[in-house]
Amino acid sequence: MKSIVAVVFWDEADWGILGKASELAAVCCGEVHAVFCGEETAEPAFWYGADEVYTVDVKDNGIDDYRTAYFLKQWAEQLHPEIILAPATVRMRGIMPILAGLLKAGLTADCTDLIINEKGRMIQIRPAFGNHLTAWIESISRIQMATVRPGIYRPRTVGKKKKPLKKLHVGGISRVRQLSFKPLKETCPLNQSRVILAGGMGIGSKENFQILAAVAKKTGAGLAASRKAVDAGFAPYSCQVGQTGVTVHPEIYIAVGISGAVQHLVGMSGAEKIIAINKDERAPIFDYADYGIVSDWKTVLQKLL
Ligand code: FAD
Repeated sequence: MKSIVAVVFWDEADWGILGKASELAAVCCGEVHAVFCGEETAEPAFWYGADEVYTVDVKDNGIDDYRTAYFLKQWAEQLHPEIILAPATVRMRGIMPILAGLLKAGLTADCTDLIINEKGRMIQIRPAFGNHLTAWIESISRIQMATVRPGIYRPRTVGKKKKPLKKLHVGGISRVRQLSFKPLKETCPLNQSRVILAGGMGIGSKENFQILAAVAKKTGAGLAASRKAVDAGFAPYSCQVGQTGVTVHPEIYIAVGISGAVQHLVGMSGAEKIIAINKDERAPIFDYADYGIVSDWKTVLQKLL
């Protein structure tokens, strides 16, 4: 029997995770089976590494995390996957622990990398103890489960053979009815932004950050921040890029008043082009930037506007 890496999505697909799943499956000579619950278009999954694609209609609005997890348990009992992955989105963070409980499987949350070791087991890598160390975790259960930090893997085209989508039906009755799901207004769609404008401590104040926000709005860029800027209250946590924030892979990343600490760089060094604006010509960010502007940020942003 072929080993199977299953990947579950609810509304928000993360194509990078499918690429990673395909890499893990290749090591074990296995297949990738992707399940899409909700509205996300499933067809591109073949392009990004899935061998089989299932869709689940959840439009009846009554389907809750418990019913979904129970349904996925039944599906997993037929499929016998060795690995089940999902992006660590709000929804999947709710469903995966319930599913892990039902399957009696080990689950590691919010992984930043996954590898297969010499025994063919999945090593789940994530920061631990307040990010002071990196933990390498191996589950002892047969089924190994992990949620993966969204955006950590750049989507890459694998180009598997396109097959008809398999439709799955969720039975049963929900005991919990979700009336609405409202994302925070401040949430930055950073993972989808092709251009990101990020501000650091050098921006100086929350009021100044509004200038940056205005430039981002006018140019259609995503607005991001360093942890120091977030800690200072200039921007919400959802904007934080780096080791303890989100990982992004935009075409252009403009770092404004950001020194270039290693914890920030891990979240944005996958950008295709990095432009740094900093008044200190010795700022470390210039070692990583494709273009550097040594100047006060306000002067440059006014010109950019
Ligand atoms: P600073 O280092 O203070 O740099 C400010 C920069 O602005 C300086 O280079 C300065 O020259 C420039 N500047 C000042 N005034 C102007 C001006 N008028 N015009 C232009 N430039 C100007 N950091 C993250 O970003 N993300 C993380 O996820 C993260 N996780 C962390 C996890 C751990 C466990 C630890 C210990 C730290 C973490 N950090 C993280 C913090 C990180 O180490 C740095 O402290 C932080 O990134 C620095 O932010 P900054 O560059 O905005 O501020």
